[in-house]
Amino acid sequence: MSSQNPVFIPGPTNIPEAIRKACDIATLDHRSPKFANLFKPAIAGVRRVLSMDAGEVIVLPSTGTGGWEAALSNTLSSGDKVLAARFGMFSHRWIDMCQRLGLQVDILETPWGEGAPLARIEAALRADESHEIKAVLATHNETATGVRSDIAGIRRALDAAGHPALLLVDGVSSIGSMPFDMAGWGVDIAVAGSQKGFMLPAGLAILGVSPKAIAAMETATLPRCFFDFRDMLRSYAAGGYPYTPAVGLIAGLAQSIEMLEEEGLEAVYSRHHRLAEATRRAVAGWGLRPCAVSPELYSDTVTAVVVPEGCNGTELVQLAAQKYDMAFGVGLGEVAGKVFRIGHLGMLSDAMLLSGLAVAEMCMADLGWGIKLGSGVAEAQDYLRASATQPLAAAA
Ligand SMILES: *Cc1c(COP(=O)(O)O)cnc(C)c1O
Repeated sequence: MSSQNPVFIPGPTNIPEAIRKACDIATLDHRSPKFANLFKPAIAGVRRVLSMDAGEVIVLPSTGTGGWEAALSNTLSSGDKVLAARFGMFSHRWIDMCQRLGLQVDILETPWGEGAPLARIEAALRADESHEIKAVLATHNETATGVRSDIAGIRRALDAAGHPALLLVDGVSSIGSMPFDMAGWGVDIAVAGSQKGFMLPAGLAILGVSPKAIAAMETATLPRCFFDFRDMLRSYAAGGYPYTPAVGLIAGLAQSIEMLEEEGLEAVYSRHHRLAEATRRAVAGWGLRPCAVSPELYSDTVTAVVVPEGCNGTELVQLAAQKYDMAFGVGLGEVAGKVFRIGHLGMLSDAMLLSGLAVAEMCMADLGWGIKLGSGVAEAQDYLRASATQPLAAAA
């Protein structure tokens, strides 16, 4: 039997049938108007998802990681100082990339499970009177720990300190699933990837770039070629692309945006919140807790579940894959083995979520973690029953 169980890794996410079909198109000449006809609505849609007012959308054949590199290399120069907090694997990897690119990183070490430390960020910016810090890096949703940071708060810190640094935000596991307000938060570059909230296969880095970041690309001297925004923007203006675009994925992106907007972005966000809350109820029912240390940090796209003392989260993930053909996320870095992760983003319904929670519960019982079957699932069921909304007719 070939099963098609949903995945519960926090990306890549489950791909709706309509998006798989939309990606499957005949070859077209990307130098013809056909390409512009496909591309323009897709990038216009990304603007709405990111809630942009000014600036440009850039779509690169890459992944989120390439999006980080593009954000850095287009706005910064060798030796520039950037400010970043480290509180999980993804914020760590971005810092590591900065260092490898020859940037100087002022690192705010923060316990894993906490979010961006606003007071320390503001203090660091205030102390930087000569404005040596050129950019503040923020991971909106730390996928390793299931922590959402307050990007509006970082903007307030920058403004309170009267600091001109760019605000570069990794929204790879939040954009399209949780509210994101690029204009309102004064974000200079927002980075997304196709395979998370956009429900596409991996292969696109999707960026929103503010006018201030566009101005910075004229003075930035970090080497870049494939990722050079200037080539992109010049080609876009002529309805083209500087090299061969991933046409199928771009067709899928247009479909993704159509689906997100058909459901309604607010409805998409509240669906994610509801499914996340159901997951957290299940976790509490198991007598466990999320890695995120307080409720205002809880992510609506991924929950990292702290496993009982003496148990190993990676064993659960392996068992779920081997015995039940279901994928959960392992703990990464500092929390390897100490957590397992339930991704609840993208195409996900109540029934799909319950299947994941039930399998996680069976694995915990199999592993002798002292968890009673039904203890978490029933909590999630109660919550979902009480908060049920009309299923989306268009999803039929
Ligand atoms: C998945 C993820 C990335 C990496 O994206 P890739 O598409 O795998 O390169 C970066 N940041 C966050 C927060 C992520 O969740």
